[in-house]
Amino acid sequence: MTQEKYTSQIVTARTEWIPGKLFSIVTTKDPAFAFIPGQFARLGLPENPQPDAKPDIWRAYSMVTPPQANELAFYSIVVPDGQFSPRLHDLKVGDAVYIDKTAFGFMTIERFPQGGQLWMLATGTGLSAYLPMLDDPQTWRQFERIILVHGVRQADELTYQDDIARFARSHAASDQQFVYLPVPSREPLAGMPQARITALIESGQLEQLAGASLDPAVARVMLCGNPAMVKDARKILADRGFAPGRRGVAGTLAVENYW
Ligand SMILES: Cc1cc2nc3c(=O)[nH]c(=O)nc-3n(C[C@H](O)[C@H](O)[C@H](O)COP(=O)(O)OP(=O)(O)OC[C@H]3O[C@@H](n4cnc5c(N)ncnc54)[C@H](O)[C@@H]3O)c2cc1C
Repeated sequence: MTQEKYTSQIVTARTEWIPGKLFSIVTTKDPAFAFIPGQFARLGLPENPQPDAKPDIWRAYSMVTPPQANELAFYSIVVPDGQFSPRLHDLKVGDAVYIDKTAFGFMTIERFPQGGQLWMLATGTGLSAYLPMLDDPQTWRQFERIILVHGVRQADELTYQDDIARFARSHAASDQQFVYLPVPSREPLAGMPQARITALIESGQLEQLAGASLDPAVARVMLCGNPAMVKDARKILADRGFAPGRRGVAGTLAVENYW
């Protein structure tokens, strides 16, 4: 008898952030499912949802809930012609979703040494991976300062703001320990530049806004989301001396590409 590599879980809640475009689901959790904040799971659904149908489409999703929570949550875009995300979006409370028993991913705070400033740079749903890190007291103990930059197209895509504020209230040692920079690129937002994250790094404006320096001696950077942003930011940062960790040597850069 073969043992499945996944478990069947049930959707317990849904949030529609922008109808038909951005949503979150909460699911039950296999008590044996373990992960580190920043890691992702593979979610599976059957292409044709018949009774007893096996999952045959799988996609990676970062956990947005912390490891100790009794449920799992995921934050998703709907890619209009995508094979998976419209199906995930169609799930209702009570429907089944399949979750691989193993969590994956290396974009975790364990990659970095104690101290310094943690820069979390995300585009769009790349925010997901940072949410459980921000809800983890260890992150706030490890870094003197945390700078979260969320790049989006329109301001209504600046989701999870209440949760982000709550994490800072619960865990920050002082108001100075946390900086949140919401950056829409296609419409103005008061007090923020209208630009791409990579342009803001290059011009030095991101450092001005954060009141911190992107210097590998003191900064640790995570990049998550759109692979074009990750590639371009990685190049700019590599030129400044940032590098991923290698066997036995802690790094200053960790990345996760979402496609
Ligand atoms: C490690 C990892 C973690 C991920 N975590 C998340 C997550 O937490 N939330 C999430 O929404 N997606 C996440 N993704 C992407 C996710 O796995 C799917 O690709 C996405 O949900 C779309 O699936 P699809 O089958 O509908 O379209 P796909 O055929 O998978 O993708 C089609 C196209 O849609 C675009 N696209 C895919 N994902 C996104 C996205 N997230 N934002 C903007 N454009 C996108 C790309 O242009 C891609 O080529 C992650 C991917 C990886 C590799």
